[in-house]
Amino acid sequence: MNVNCGVCKTICTVNHDCILCELCETWHHACCENLDKEKLKKMGQDDKPYICTICKSTHDMNILAMRLTKVWL
Ligand SMILES: [Zn+2]
Ligand SMILES: [Zn+2]
Repeated sequence: MNVNCGVCKTICTVNHDCILCELCETWHHACCENLDKEKLKKMGQDDKPYICTICKSTHDMNILAMRLTKVWL
C-alpha cells in the first residue's frame, strides 16, 4: 500500500489502521479520522461504506444517501 492519508497527507502504511472513503476513494488513518480500535471494529462488522469527515462536511447528506444507495444494495 503506497497511498497518502487524505487528512495529514503522510503515507498510509500497513502499520497504521487505515480506512478507505467510499466517496472520494481516499485512504485515511483511523487516528486522523478520530476512529479508535473499537469504532473500526464495529464498522468492519457493519459492512457499510465509510464516508470520511471531509466528505461529510463538504457534501449534502441527502446527496450522500442517494449516491450510496447503490453501494448498499
Ligand atoms: Zn493521517
Ligand atoms: Zn471522502
